[in-house]
Order: sequence, then C-alpha cells, then structure tokens
Amino acid sequence: MAEEGVPCPRCGVKMEYWVEIELGENGQRRIKYYYRCPRCGYRVSDAVLVVKRVDGRIVVEREEYRQPLSSRVGAVKRARGR
Ligand SMILES: [Zn+2]
Repeated sequence: MAEEGVPCPRCGVKMEYWVEIELGENGQRRIKYYYRCPRCGYRVSDAVLVVKRVDGRIVVEREEYRQPLSSRVGAVKRARGR
C-alpha cells in the first residue's frame, strides 16, 4: 500500500488510499475504495463493492462510479490488472 501514488488533480499532493464501510439494511454493506488528498480533501472514487445476503448466501457486487475525470485512468488501469 505504501507504493500507492496518485497525485491530486487539484494540488498535486500524493493522495492517500482509503476504504470506508457503510452499513445498510439487512446486513448489507457498501465498501467504498477511494483516494483522498490529505491537503485539500479532494476525493476520487475507485470502486464500490456491495456485500449482501441473498437467501442466506453472501453476494458481492461491484458498483463503479462513472466520473469523467482524467485522474480516473490510473484507477481503471489498476482494476484491469487483476
Ligand atoms: Zn489536493
């Protein structure tokens, strides 16, 4: 994780990678992955995973933000590399 280095589109400071878990109804969770600038607070979403229970089974779905930002390119490339 120390090598994650995406510069902030606003001020150029290296952004930090954050993971946020949001609890929803029926045990559903939304896990948000995003970059956040420590200086100005600018956020760039990477991906959102939705974890839910369907008939007692755990289902994970990927939900992506569609942002027309050139800074998204880095995140898209990383995602393809899996
Ligand atoms: Zn910034």
